[in-house]
Amino acid sequence: MPAYDQSNIFAKILRGEIPCHKVYEDDKALAFLDIMPRAPGHTLVIPKSPARNILDVAPDDLAHVMKLAQRIAKVSVDVFGADGVTLQQFSESAGGQVVFHLHVHVIPRKEGIALKPPASVKEAPDVLKEQAAKLAAALA
Ligand code: AMP
Repeated sequence: MPAYDQSNIFAKILRGEIPCHKVYEDDKALAFLDIMPRAPGHTLVIPKSPARNILDVAPDDLAHVMKLAQRIAKVSVDVFGADGVTLQQFSESAGGQVVFHLHVHVIPRKEGIALKPPASVKEAPDVLKEQAAKLAAALA
């Protein structure tokens, strides 16, 4: 497996070099909205440690990310009036990964509504801002 590349876009978000619509942050993890959501409320949860994916992340960092993913899943059901939640994690190109910093997708789902295709529609920044604020408030 290739080494971790510090120039990936989520590493830049962690370093504050590019903005994100933050939902939650603690000393070990960051959660922010996907800019091309597959459904409203689509959130990405990442460790602050430089893990490429499931194949190299430290187990404790993964456990922390998954606990946060569960918290966000529960809250997003209320915030987005969802009927369920889909979690996804892709590792390496063969596994569908595009950004090579470990991330877990938390996607609120409504009965009978299919996911949009990956990276198909860029959401308006003001919509993401409002959604992130609602999730952040519910998590506080
Ligand atoms: P994947 O690596 O296949 O799990 O997909 C990467 C995800 O990152 C996709 O859902 C993209 O829409 C999302 N994405 C890419 N760039 C950004 C960004 N700057 N901020 C938030 N999400 C992003």
